[in-house]
Formats: sequence, C-alpha cells, structure tokens
Amino acid sequence: MNRTDVAIAGAGIIGLTTAFELAAAGCKVTVCDQSEAMSEASRAAAGMLAGADPENPAELRELSRLSLAHYPEFLDRVETLSQKKIPIRTTSTMQGIHHLPPDANPLTEPEIEKLAPRANVSGWRFVSLEEKSIDAWDLAEALPTASRAAGIRLRERTPVLSVRSEGAGAEIVTAAGTFSAGIFLNATGAWAPALEPSMPVSPRKGHMLTAELPGELQMQCVLRTPNVYIVPRGANRYTVGSTVEDAGFDRTVDPIRIQELFSRAVDLWPPLRDASIAETWIGFRPGSGDGLPIIDQTSDHCWIATGHFKNGILLGPGTARVLSQWMLGQRPELDLSPFRAGRFALLPASS
Ligand SMILES: Cc1cc2nc3c(=O)[nH]c(=O)nc-3n(C[C@H](O)[C@H](O)[C@H](O)COP(=O)(O)OP(=O)(O)OC[C@H]3O[C@@H](n4cnc5c(N)ncnc54)[C@H](O)[C@@H]3O)c2cc1C
Repeated sequence: MNRTDVAIAGAGIIGLTTAFELAAAGCKVTVCDQSEAMSEASRAAAGMLAGADPENPAELRELSRLSLAHYPEFLDRVETLSQKKIPIRTTSTMQGIHHLPPDANPLTEPEIEKLAPRANVSGWRFVSLEEKSIDAWDLAEALPTASRAAGIRLRERTPVLSVRSEGAGAEIVTAAGTFSAGIFLNATGAWAPALEPSMPVSPRKGHMLTAELPGELQMQCVLRTPNVYIVPRGANRYTVGSTVEDAGFDRTVDPIRIQELFSRAVDLWPPLRDASIAETWIGFRPGSGDGLPIIDQTSDHCWIATGHFKNGILLGPGTARVLSQWMLGQRPELDLSPFRAGRFALLPASS
C-alpha cells in the first residue's frame, strides 16, 4: 500500500494552505479532492480579508491577526511558485454601522463622497477600516499550481470515502484505492460531517453576482453594511454579496435571490443602477453550530479544520500555521480552545 507522511481530504483554502505549511516543513503531502482544487467555497468567496469587520465574533480576533500577519508572505510564495499574480484589489473598507461604539470615528459626508461617490448614507454611520481584499478567483487559479510546484501531490476527482486510524497512522480509502498516511486532516469544508458525522457543520449557501458598470472604476474601497457588500475587482467590475441560506447542497442560482441582492446593492450605491449583471454563482460556506471554526484533533492520527463560515479566505494562512504546528507535535502559537469540537457538548441540547 502506498504511504505518505500527511493525507488531506479537501483542496480548498484550508486544505491547501495547511498542505503548504507541512510541505515546507519537509513532509510528503497528498491532498485528495472529490472535485477540482479550489472549486467550492474558496472560489465562491468575495475575497475580503475582513479581520476588522465589527460583525465578527470576538473569538476570531487573534486568529485573524495571525492570518493577516502571514498574508503577504503567503501571497508572495504562491505568486513565486505559480508565476501567477494575486493583486491586492482594495486596501480599505467603508463599513456602515447602525450603532456606533463610543470610541468610533465616523466619516464625514465629504470623506464618504470621496471614498464612495454618491453612496446612499441614510440610516447608516460609516467608518473607514484598514482592510484588504483579493479576488478569490485569482487565488483559485494560482494556489493549486503553487501547491504542485511545492511538491504536494494533488489528486483531483478523488473523493475520500472513509478514514481509519491504524497502528502507526491512518488508512485512507478513496474512490481510486486505499493508501496510508502518518497523519490525516479532514478539510472538506461544508462536507466535513460525511467523514466525521459528529461534527455540527452544515452548508450555508450564498448567492453572489458580478456587476459591470460602463466607464471608469468609480469606487476604490469595499462598501459594506451588515446587509450587503460591494467589492471592486478591477476594471469596471464589482462583486456583490451575499445571501446566507440554509438550503442544503442545492446548487440552483435563483434569479429572484440575485435580483434582491442586486437591489440591495443599488440601494446602498445608486450608481450601480446602470450596471449589467455579468456573472452569478453560489457557494457553500462551512457553518458550525456557533459560527466559529472547528480546529481539533479527532483521534490519534487525525485532525479536522472546518467551519470557517464567512471568513475562510481571511483565516486560511493563520489556521494552516497553528494546525501544522499541532500536527507536527509542536505547541500551537495560539490558544485554540475556542475552536475545539468539545465546546459543542457544553451547549444546551436545543442550540
Ligand atoms: C458566497 C461566499 C462569499 C464568501 N466571502 C468571503 C470573504 O469575502 N472573505 C472570506 O474570508 N471568506 C469568505 N467566504 C468564506 C470562505 O469562502 C470559506 O470559509 C472557505 O472557502 C472555506 O474553505 P474550505 O477549504 O474549508 O472549504 P472549501 O473551499 O469548500 O473546500 C472544501 C473542499 O473539500 C472537497 N471535498 C468535500 N468532500 C470531500 C471528500 N469526501 N473527499 C475529498 N474532497 C472532498 C470539496 O470538493 C472542496 O473542494 C465566502 C464564502 C461564500 C460561499
């Protein structure tokens, strides 16, 4: 039977960034994906590195900070290995808030007009956040190529069917045969319970669209409220997101949802009224019972990393760093107790 040091199920951002770290530490890594690498949630994302979003749970602060600190180095490595560019698309976010915290510094109307000309500010106070965004499609193009160049064995269209702990490691059963590994990671996103049925993770569907506005780019920053966001993606294109739905793995792109989303965006930024909708798509965020990631060891040789919900692109490099430290027997540099799966046993049965 073939043997590798590390086997990973799932070639989304969580599986591939972790594979990257482990390969850099000298491990022989095989990543299996039931479909194509970076073709699910990690491709569907808007690409905001929204560590400063006031809607984020406080428990994400340290992991976000760690991830953002490693982002420049991560992008550099991916670009060098893949020879593909992943430009930073925006460097600030104009965030609408209903109730400003006492220490907040709201933007004045002239400041708003400069950042997002003709934005509809009614009902909102806006603050400016130092926050970057990338285009998830750029990352989806580059990361699989970079992974292969880093020596990672990427087996696409190879579903992992089951995993058994055996004496010195794990036995991985795939649709294309069985192999063994010293350690195993379940990074299958919204599909994680298929391999680990006790995990409270489910798909949270999101509709997205790209709108094309004739003429020059008119807004340079991300414009975001808790209801909708508009992310400039270069040229005259804007990505608009998103819905959060409990619809199982239904892949339908619903024109009514798209139209509602577009109307919300036009309401926030009226110049979009003249835009045409160029692309529409959906994705399945991996959502856990409490909206936080699950990063844990599930048996002697097996780990899981899923549930990154709305922030997996942001949290990928940080998750990979602490997880690879743990999988290699080192002490993770962050306290991971907020993300341990055991926390769900402490919740009341109805939650
Ligand atoms: C509409 C939308 C907008 C978003 N916007 C943002 C954003 O702006 N910023 C941000 O930080 N995050 C955003 N996110 C969240 C982010 O995309 C996710 O948190 C992240 O992509 C999750 O990564 P993942 O690797 O866990 O899952 P995925 O990318 O879904 O990868 C899981 C992989 O596992 C594979 N798989 C499943 N089962 C098996 C199996 N049995 N064997 C082998 N392979 C298997 C799948 O094919 C898939 O490729 C958004 C998500 C959506 C849907």
